[in-house]
Amino acid sequence: MEIYCDNAATTAIDPEVIQAILPYLTSNYGNPSSGHWAGRKVKEAIAAARQTVANLIGASAEEIFFMSGATEANNLALTGAIKANDISHVITSKIEHKAVLQRLALHEKAGDIEISYVKLDDFGNVDLRHLENLLDANPQTLISLMHGNNEIGNITDITAIGELAKRYNAVFHTDTTQTMGKITYNVGESNIDFLVGSAHKFHGPKGVGFLYINKRNKIRPIIVGGGQEKGQRGGTENVAGIVGLAKALEVAYKSRAVVQNHVSVLKRYFISNLDDLTIGGITFNGESRSATKGLGNIVSVAFPCLSSGSLVKQLDILGIAVSGGSACSNLADGGSHVISTIYRNPDKEIVRFSFSKFNTLEEIDYIIKSIIRIYQSDRLIEATQELEQTAL
Ligand code: PMP
Repeated sequence: MEIYCDNAATTAIDPEVIQAILPYLTSNYGNPSSGHWAGRKVKEAIAAARQTVANLIGASAEEIFFMSGATEANNLALTGAIKANDISHVITSKIEHKAVLQRLALHEKAGDIEISYVKLDDFGNVDLRHLENLLDANPQTLISLMHGNNEIGNITDITAIGELAKRYNAVFHTDTTQTMGKITYNVGESNIDFLVGSAHKFHGPKGVGFLYINKRNKIRPIIVGGGQEKGQRGGTENVAGIVGLAKALEVAYKSRAVVQNHVSVLKRYFISNLDDLTIGGITFNGESRSATKGLGNIVSVAFPCLSSGSLVKQLDILGIAVSGGSACSNLADGGSHVISTIYRNPDKEIVRFSFSKFNTLEEIDYIIKSIIRIYQSDRLIEATQELEQTAL
């Protein structure tokens, strides 16, 4: 049995998206910059995709820039805005994605900016009063605060932050990678200057994303040459990816209510089953237990007595794919900066379960049974070791 519960890392491509992409991998292979019929066909497809994305999030087409994903979009938004607007101060939080934190750290090291980190409460929520104090003390600021946290699922109140940004004349970038397609946007009526999307997080293809730049903003490009994307991102377009991204977002918006209801049923069922287990000491991280303050599809759990690496490995052996440690890079960078920031305990063991429309209640039953099985066998091993030691 194979169960995929790592949908915050990436998702399966929707069959409708595959159908939409296929012609751009076969017959429609022209370069969109070419002036002939083959080029025109794909140029039109990109323009249609741009218009689709713009319509869905309440933007205009000239505010949408396609790129390789949210990592690139975040990097461009931050560097582009800092350079174009002579920004010398940035407010962010210590639980942002590394694409944001590392880009800002490079600017800090180069002496371009100073960084203030907004205070977080015990669940990892932004302290809005502290944010306002920081804005009051620092004119010409760029705020970079994510919408949905990829590890613990916390949802940030970006409407309130947008209002503060407007009041204090700050530029507002928000990493919306985990919420795009799950929560609706009307950027035309918000005070957001930059937001991002990565297609593979909403059942689209990998290696394609977009950056929304509110037309009142200027940026400086990082990748130049070729003049594509109105000079903001050079390089021949990933045509199939762009078509797939637009289709995936369209499908996500169309089925949003049903899908969000489905994943939250799965989440509630999973949590109540974990609550019923006789294994003591299971806790939930951030707002991942909450139905309103956390994303509907993410549950981050701290299990007692078992390292997350060991639990993830044992679940994998039983056919269940989940994340541990730093949820996206999966232990590659030695633990979770999000968890160690909030709990000041780098050793806290976490496992992230993230659901999608393709998961079922039967799969949750299997996951729960597997957790029980792992604990039983682990207890058995421990008990055996204790027996051996007393016999020596
Ligand atoms: N931001 C967040 C919040 C994410 O979860 C991710 C993906 N882990 C990214 C940015 C980067 O996305 P991508 O790898 O698709 O560029």
